[in-house]
Formats: sequence, structure tokens, C-alpha cells
Amino acid sequence: MQNDKTPVIYRTRRAASRPETPLISIVVPAYNEAEVLDHFITDTQAILASLGCHYEYVFIDDGSRDKTADLIAGHLRKGLPGRLIGLSRNFGKEAALSAGLAHARGDAVVIIDADLQDPPALIPQMLEGWRAGYDVVYGVRVDRSSDTLMKRSTADLFYRIFNRLAHIDMPANAGDFRLIDRTVVNALLQLPERNRFMKGLFAWVGFPSMALPYERPERRAGTGKWNYWKLWNFAIDGFTSFTTLPLRIWLYCGSVVAALAFAYALYLIIRVLAFGVDVPGYASLMVGLLFFSGVQLLSIGMIGEYVSRLFSETKQRPVYLVQDIIEGTAATPTEEP
Ligand code: UDP
Ligand code: MG
Repeated sequence: MQNDKTPVIYRTRRAASRPETPLISIVVPAYNEAEVLDHFITDTQAILASLGCHYEYVFIDDGSRDKTADLIAGHLRKGLPGRLIGLSRNFGKEAALSAGLAHARGDAVVIIDADLQDPPALIPQMLEGWRAGYDVVYGVRVDRSSDTLMKRSTADLFYRIFNRLAHIDMPANAGDFRLIDRTVVNALLQLPERNRFMKGLFAWVGFPSMALPYERPERRAGTGKWNYWKLWNFAIDGFTSFTTLPLRIWLYCGSVVAALAFAYALYLIIRVLAFGVDVPGYASLMVGLLFFSGVQLLSIGMIGEYVSRLFSETKQRPVYLVQDIIEGTAATPTEEP
């Protein structure tokens, strides 16, 4: 069983040649983040300016209802390199990330939350890992004590079951905060599915990866958008996008139950033949009835999950819709550190 300390190795790292002064894209999904964006831009710019590479921001305004878009547009007008992709409504973080990746032009892309919970101070280390030949450098939360016990244990359970069932190694406690190489970005953009469970997709594509442990601070300002109901549904999305085992379970359950039922029927027939008709049996009848209707409802629900997934995939709707794109200045080289 892998834990936080042992990074997931999909394959060994290669001796990659990285450009001398690469372009780094910073992909930032933002949904109602006006309160924190100024801090975010100040903090990240300080770090990026010291890197000695070109950089650009790719903000995705995921249908914000506050001043998020105006604020970013203001910064872009004042000379911030990069662009703002305005989505036509709130499509959710997973879709926003896909939009960001599609509009990033960098040799490497850093995915980072706007609320400063992903410390920008880690970006130089990520870049180092990338220069050393890793195509993915992902942040791993070492200390989840800021989360409630409930959130921690449910998250832990999710990773355990997921990795067991889905046959891909999704590193526990790794979020979307990571640096990925252009080859990985292109691989992700090739994946056609509408239901984008990014953590799973990141793991699915593989590539030489490196874990970077960090402590996740509290959100600097504004409010989180997750609750348990959303997380539960997110987990179902994850499972049904990556494993069909829940469907297969019913094949086995069904076979066992059918075999038992057959044996019992045989026993009843023999008993009737030997001892004549027998009236009592209401209890066992009811138990059987209730139990099997429960099992049937559950399995129909499970199949329904997959059918709905098929439904949304066959509609071929785009993952997100872009309303407008605001271009800032072109990425400019910064002085060597
Ligand atoms: N986010 C988004 N669309 C959404 C929800 C969130 O783009 O529908 C962005 C949000 O602006 C933030 C990041 O995703 O930059 C993480 O969101 P949040 O802080 O609510 O999640 P948590 O830190 O609890 O995982
Ligand atoms: Mg957050």
C-alpha cells in the first residue's frame, strides 16, 4: 500500500532537454475569488519574477458573479502577461481546468488555486523537478490537520477504495496543484471524455512523476465551494469514470443468489413431494422478497449511474463554453535570478 511518503512512479524519469528560458503558464481557475485575487497576483508575481523564465497567467473565470472578471481584466490591462478565459456560466473546477489547459501556451503548465491554499513558493521547486526530467511534479499535502477528522477519514477511504478498484495509482492527498510538461498537457487535451475527473485523468496518463510534499494553509480570503454532498457526488464521478467493477459485482452477487435460490427451490420441491403441502413460511417469504427487491434496486441504481454517463458522453456536448477571451500583454522575459 502506497502512502504519502512514497511517490507514485509511473515510469522512470528521462533525461529531458528543457528549453533554456521556457515559457511557464500559470493556470488559475477562479469562481467568485475577487476577495483574494489581488493577494494571489502579488504573491505569485513575486515568485515568478525570480524564476528567470517567461511566464503567462491563464485565468479561467468560471461564471463568477462577483468582480473576479473585472479585477483580472484590470490587471491584464495594466501589463500582467497572459489572458482571461471567461466561461459562459459556472461549469465547475474540472471543466475550468480543461479550459485553462486548452488555452495555455507554455512549455510547462502550473495548475494552482486562486485562494493561495496552494503555496506559490513551491513553484521554483516544481520547476527544478521539471528541469531534472520529471514531466509531472505534483504537490502532496503532508498535514491535513486543518481539515476535520471526518473529511480526512472519508478522503482516506476514498483513495483506498479508488486505487483498489480502478487499477490506477492515484496518489493520496494530492490535489490539482502541480506542474505538468507540455507533452502531458497535450495528452490530457486528447482525452475526449466530458466527465472530467481531473485527479483520475492525471494519474491515468502516467508519465514520470515526482511528489512534492507541502503543508496546505487555510484559504486566504473568500469561501470554499465544497460541501459533503458535492464531495460525495465527486467521488461517484471518480469511480464511475474509472472502473466498471461496481457493475461486475452484481454479476457475481446475482450468480450466488441465483444458485442459492435454486438449491432452496429444489429443497422445497423435495419436501413437498415427501411430506405434502406446508402453509407456514410467511416470514421467510417476506425476508426474501424485501432482500431481493433491495438488491435489485441497488443494482439498477448502479447501472443507472453508468447509463447516465453513457448518455452524457454520447451527447458530445463540449465540456465548457467560452464567452470571451481577454488578452493581456505577451509574456516577457524576466531577468535571470
Ligand atoms: N473553482 C472553480 N469553479 C468552481 C469551484 C471552484 O473554478 O465551480 C476554483 C476556485 O475559484 C479555486 C479552486 O477552484 O481557485 C478551488 O476551490 P475551493 O477553494 O472552493 O476548493 P478547496 O480548496 O476546498 O478544494
Ligand atoms: Mg481552496
